[in-house]
Amino acid sequence: MIKIPEIPNLKKCKSIAVLTSGGDAPGMNAAIRSVVRYGLAQGLKVYGISRGYSGLLEGHIDLMDASSVANIIQRGGTVLKTDRCLEFYKKETRREAANILFRNDVDALVVIGGDGSFTGAHLMQTETGFPTIGVPGTIDNDIAGTDDTIGFDTAVNTALEAIDRIRDTASSHDRIFLVEVMGRSSGFIGLSVGIGGGAETTIVPENQESIGAICKTIERGTRRGKSSSIIVVSEGKKPGLSTRLAASLEERGYSTKVAILGHQQRGGSPSAHDRLLASVLGSSAVAYLLNGKSNGMVGVQQGSVVHVPFKKVIGVKKELDSSMLDLSRVLST
Ligand code: ADP
Repeated sequence: MIKIPEIPNLKKCKSIAVLTSGGDAPGMNAAIRSVVRYGLAQGLKVYGISRGYSGLLEGHIDLMDASSVANIIQRGGTVLKTDRCLEFYKKETRREAANILFRNDVDALVVIGGDGSFTGAHLMQTETGFPTIGVPGTIDNDIAGTDDTIGFDTAVNTALEAIDRIRDTASSHDRIFLVEVMGRSSGFIGLSVGIGGGAETTIVPENQESIGAICKTIERGTRRGKSSSIIVVSEGKKPGLSTRLAASLEERGYSTKVAILGHQQRGGSPSAHDRLLASVLGSSAVAYLLNGKSNGMVGVQQGSVVHVPFKKVIGVKKELDSSMLDLSRVLST
């Protein structure tokens, strides 16, 4: 169970708004619900902003009550909708956004999203003084300053379910399957799925195996009597890596199939773990704001909730645990 810090309530702010921004992730609804219900319990007015920063600029700011977030904890996606807003890259637009919030009687903003959304929030606060706090919501788990992000656990479980099914057909047909998972330039999903799915080889951006090394692993398996293999491939910056690798293996005489899991990893009902994480982080974000702590993100470090300044989060590369990389190699031989 995650340890929640005791945060005194200084009641400096009387109303907050919440939005979701960037890529959606399962568990965002649980986070919205937690922000709204915990805020109301603290006597705050709570507003919901639809479609991220775009909706904020268009003034889609609505008062929420406990019923506004009823029956959403189990739903994937985000009821507030999300968006990518190019306008927000401009300083004058961020100033306008802070003015809109101010005019709508909002004292602080909770942003549920990833590194990009936090950059927008950080710049707006630094430039205008308007208080913001981030809640890490992304399936990629690539945000520095927190061991875990909302949506990661669900995405890994979804990918594992798919791999278990693919393994059935791979072994029936004696085939090599390359299964491409999401994660952008981080291998957190790939590594977890590789270990959890018993992959013969796991390829993550942090540790690109050469085609020769992949062939050696396949040959080693063949000598032990294996007739099929699962190779987990993280998408990396350029999707389609699995297709390129499959072509190289075919050239060397192997029979391969490619399965790109794609957007199904973003959807679906959040796992118990993600619902709990989202409930804890959403409420903690509000608690920190009431304690005057902003311009940062709520995260989890070694089982405890922490507040991490945006400066230590944004643009900082989160490293994969090298011992897990070693473990994946040892277990796949
Ligand atoms: P994520 O939050 O999932 O990383 P994005 O990187 O797409 O997703 O960012 C979401 C939104 O956050 C962008 O569409 C934009 O509105 C805002 N944003 C991202 N980067 C910046 C930036 N450098 N300056 C200002 N706003 C940004």
